[in-house]
Amino acid sequence: MTAPALALLAALGPTDGLAGAACTGRAPMFDADLDGETGEDREARHDGARGLCGDCRVLEVCRASLDSLPPQMTGIWAGRLLDEGKVSHR
Ligand code: SF4
Repeated sequence: MTAPALALLAALGPTDGLAGAACTGRAPMFDADLDGETGEDREARHDGARGLCGDCRVLEVCRASLDSLPPQMTGIWAGRLLDEGKVSHR
């Protein structure tokens, strides 16, 4: 989840429920792909992001937003990799 994506998530629901999101300030870690990154590096980065989601105090609020996200959203959300708004099995 990128910083703009977190702002979008905040726009979708009550912002007080997002206070303390573990991804705040860690935007690139949650992106779907980074330029020049190997597949192995991407998997390791996504595993780290998923780990932060697992410990995130707003995981349930974030998970509840998945059905409301615009279809173009990508990256790690609530511990899942989204590819154009759908959960990817990558
Ligand atoms: S569950 Fe993950 S993507 Fe959602 S707010 Fe928390 S750290 Fe960010």
